Amino acid sequence: MLTSLADRSVIVTGASKGIGKGIARVFAQKGARVLIVARDMSQAEAAAAEIRSSGGTASSISADVSNEQDCARIAHIAVERHGGIDVVCCNAGIFPAARLSDMTAAEWDHVLGINLKGTFLTVKACLPALKARGRGRVIVTSSITGPITGYPGWSHYGASKAGQLGFIRTAAIELAPHHITVNAVLPGNILTEGIEAMGPEYIARMTAAIPQRRLGTVEDIAYAALFLASDEAGFISGQTLVVDGGQVLPESQAALEDL
Ligand code: NAP
Repeated sequence: MLTSLADRSVIVTGASKGIGKGIARVFAQKGARVLIVARDMSQAEAAAAEIRSSGGTASSISADVSNEQDCARIAHIAVERHGGIDVVCCNAGIFPAARLSDMTAAEWDHVLGINLKGTFLTVKACLPALKARGRGRVIVTSSITGPITGYPGWSHYGASKAGQLGFIRTAAIELAPHHITVNAVLPGNILTEGIEAMGPEYIARMTAAIPQRRLGTVEDIAYAALFLASDEAGFISGQTLVVDGGQVLPESQAALEDL
């Protein structure tokens, strides 16, 4: 049993859907007070209302993590509503596909602006409140794509997700004196609205590439984040946790065919 997270103030960016919504739900089930962040206010509020209808504490805010003023507003509202910030889950991300030969500089900037700069801006905005608590947790949703693997169409995405790991390693050192840990979860293929939108053929191909022969659930990622947010994980910082059903393990296609 881990120490309770009851009443801890938790921010989850990109929590109106998918993995972030799963993280928000699981943290709320454990008694945390959750601030749900997404650009689309109606979806963010619907996710918060779902949590409240099952007895949890959650509210929402419309904000774009690639915008510095919006990130300042996220931190301000969390402090105003919850009296401080204990845990920040930097999960908001986008994954549009574009091959290198077609990719524009604007597309590159857009993906890096949300996935990588958005992580930095969110953490920076929350720092004063985290430091004031004298302890804290930052949990970044990276990916296997970029840090470990590659996939055609996702060079900008992979660069953003690998960049997040470079960010956490130095952030973990700088924030260690404040008892703030900074870690990343690296999901494999997780069944979310974003992945469903890529179509049944993509999902079937991904399922075949995973030794456990299933895509992950949002709870698979949420429980990894929950552990990293626990008091018991306080000596773990600057680290990565792959949650992928073994997807990165096969050294060749034959390893999967021989199962
Ligand atoms: P998703 O279902 O598409 O949900 C993305 C969430 O992020 C939504 O709530 C979206 O809401 C929000 N968002 C996007 N841009 C934002 C911005 N600029 N500011 C604030 N919120 C923003 O995605 P997902 O599949 O759950 O992915 C979530 C994270 O996990 C991403 O960082 C992704 O890279 C990572 N990941 C996912 C998988 C997977 O298999 N699903 C695998 C590896 C890593 P709005 O559009 O309303 O803003």
